Amino acid sequence: MIKKQDKIDPMAQNITQSLRLIDTHTHFDVPEYDEARVQCARRASEQGVLHLVLIGYLARYFGRMVQTHEFVNALEAAPKSHLAFGLHPLYIHEHHENDLLILSDFLNNHHSIAIAEIGLDTYHKSLQSADIYAKQQRFFVEQIKLAKQYHKPILLHIRKSHADVLKILAEQNYRADNQGGIAHSFSGGEQEALAFVKRGFKLGITGQITNPNAKKLRRAAMAVFAKYGADAFVIETDCPDMMPLPCQHLGSFNEPANLPHVLDTLALLFSMDKQSLAEKLWQNSCQALQTKW
Ligand SMILES: [Zn+2]
Repeated sequence: MIKKQDKIDPMAQNITQSLRLIDTHTHFDVPEYDEARVQCARRASEQGVLHLVLIGYLARYFGRMVQTHEFVNALEAAPKSHLAFGLHPLYIHEHHENDLLILSDFLNNHHSIAIAEIGLDTYHKSLQSADIYAKQQRFFVEQIKLAKQYHKPILLHIRKSHADVLKILAEQNYRADNQGGIAHSFSGGEQEALAFVKRGFKLGITGQITNPNAKKLRRAAMAVFAKYGADAFVIETDCPDMMPLPCQHLGSFNEPANLPHVLDTLALLFSMDKQSLAEKLWQNSCQALQTKW
């Protein structure tokens, strides 16, 4: 604990204070944080995480998201919370038609910064059958339509379905340079990465990048960096998942305070100083989320 009269190196203090970060993708409402949400929020704010986005996945948890959002925003030392409601493709078996109406309802009654997380996922066998994949595509299209209707950016979840997501975005004439958007926790190859950035999306980079064995991700990130520079990226924890490698001894789940590890690795890969990369990522996040912070 630092008491007021303790001497603090003014340079060190300045450096910590001027690093400001946005965690563009969190599930900070999940019960993993129930015992430690206040401490996690405080740690995040100490690490310069000034904003975090709470991402939706199942309609039955939208209410819990609102409660967490209000709880976090009532704390003194905490990032500012923002809501993004959406129906996640991984949970497609659990979504009902009525959930789209519930989503509209929440969009009408709460400030949602984006529609998230939406997209397609064919990673597991249970997601690949024709009827389930058709249902995923239908929910994705309906949510793109809602994003247009409500003028919201979309934050995409895409696993082993990059070509189909690009096809649907083209059919729906959705461009993220007009409307904002992030390809969250990007997992595709170089060409796919370039295609999403060409469509105006920022690539969301998680703690996965801290692992030197994440060769495909690092190659895709470097290919995009070579063509577009740091403009094409935002960072996220995707907590409680995607624990950065340097934190894996700390506990069983990730938290927003671990976000600087993603910044550190990107700064090394891009040969940029952390300060200017953090500032660039801040601007990119604001652009992707169509906001001014
Ligand atoms: Zn997520």
